[in-house]
Amino acid sequence: MQELISGLHHVTALAGNPQKNIDFYAGILGLKMIKKTINFDAPDVYHLYYGDEVGNPGTIMTFFPYQDIPKGRKGAGQLTYTAFSIPVSALGFWLDRLQTYQIAYTMPQKRFDETYIQFEDFDGLGVELVVTEHDKRVGRASGTIPAEMAIKGFYTVTLHEYSIDRTVKLLTETMQHKLVAEENGRLRFESGSGGAGSYTDVLYTTDSVRSLQGAGTVHHVAFATQTDDTQLLIRENLLSSGYQVTPVIDRNYFHSIYFREPGNILFEIATNPPGFAVDEPLEQLGSRLKLPAWYEPKRDLIEKGLMPVEVNYF
Ligand code: ZN
Repeated sequence: MQELISGLHHVTALAGNPQKNIDFYAGILGLKMIKKTINFDAPDVYHLYYGDEVGNPGTIMTFFPYQDIPKGRKGAGQLTYTAFSIPVSALGFWLDRLQTYQIAYTMPQKRFDETYIQFEDFDGLGVELVVTEHDKRVGRASGTIPAEMAIKGFYTVTLHEYSIDRTVKLLTETMQHKLVAEENGRLRFESGSGGAGSYTDVLYTTDSVRSLQGAGTVHHVAFATQTDDTQLLIRENLLSSGYQVTPVIDRNYFHSIYFREPGNILFEIATNPPGFAVDEPLEQLGSRLKLPAWYEPKRDLIEKGLMPVEVNYF
């Protein structure tokens, strides 16, 4: 069977203040700002991308910092926590670092065979660090974070659902995931060749509140597909399973289709090519405000409408 999904591609969330967002993800977590652009549908709002050195799929966290939208609420029908992996020897380093920057975190807990901690960004978005020796990706040094302590990319995401049967059917029958673990109402699926960055957890609870979209909540999760052809194949699969799927949309750095899974979480399938070097050299990723060609003539106006920000790696 041809592989249609190779893992997670990116997670996109809503934020408040763009500078605080940069200070959290680049400054404290040490993710690299790989692209500073605008929301193509709302050019007065940034679209900020963070990731590894080159923005590999499976490392990319992106935000629309709307500044003045109300905070959202975690709950069912939402991706509530995005987990990043760190090396086994790095847990103490991260506990110290979070304390230094006054980020409250849960004490290390066990889940399946891993240790993890939970905390929130400045808007309340759920983040986890998972300690694992099985992630062979290499982290990047950033500010006072040495490479051997650095975050490597996504580990898993948690889809928080009221009922799971149809979501499980979608993941396993239409999206080629397989169930690899189950514990306390949490089902873990993996795609592609498996491992960190290929997991999706479905968490089943009946007693939680319904989620509310706003700052500090995830807008959608994107799964990675290798080519435009595999994207069209999975689109056919989705359509024949009864999903309403958008046509392919050009997002400049990848091509995308979108649909809602049965629990109402917005899913995207994004192609790995062309990637983030399509409009600036790899060594300059994220350094300049990038606009799609059709907005270039309005660059002055667009730049004036955006809050000035700077990227500092603490
Ligand atoms: Zn997306």
